[in-house]
Amino acid sequence: MSEKYNYSCPGCSAGLSRDGEVMLTMTRSTGEKSNLILHPKPGVYGYYCNPPLKLEDGELVECYCPYCWESLRSESFPNFVSLNLHKLDGSNVKVLFSRLVGQHKTYIVNEAFTNKYGDGSKKLLDLVS
Ligand SMILES: [Zn+2]
Repeated sequence: MSEKYNYSCPGCSAGLSRDGEVMLTMTRSTGEKSNLILHPKPGVYGYYCNPPLKLEDGELVECYCPYCWESLRSESFPNFVSLNLHKLDGSNVKVLFSRLVGQHKTYIVNEAFTNKYGDGSKKLLDLVS
């Protein structure tokens, strides 16, 4: 099961999937730092921090790749973190996770769509609710 959702960093291509979960480094505006563990399945919400950190609903956290320390913030959608997802059929899509704590939103964006509609569009091809 852990191979089903294979995430990687858009910057350095390092694998971000660990034991069937997705692990990112995050910092709060207060400067506190932790690892943010996400459920790998788009549309399934829930996260935890390791070491544990209590986050406030509505706060915006910065997420980084634990390997290259690039920000994972999406350029097109600044409130989202953008990760590459390699699917079993060999195709790659971008998955956007909200980085607003408590906001349960995940989008899947495929390259054809973003190329066609560009940055100005707020509509996304597949909304996973
Ligand atoms: Zn990276």
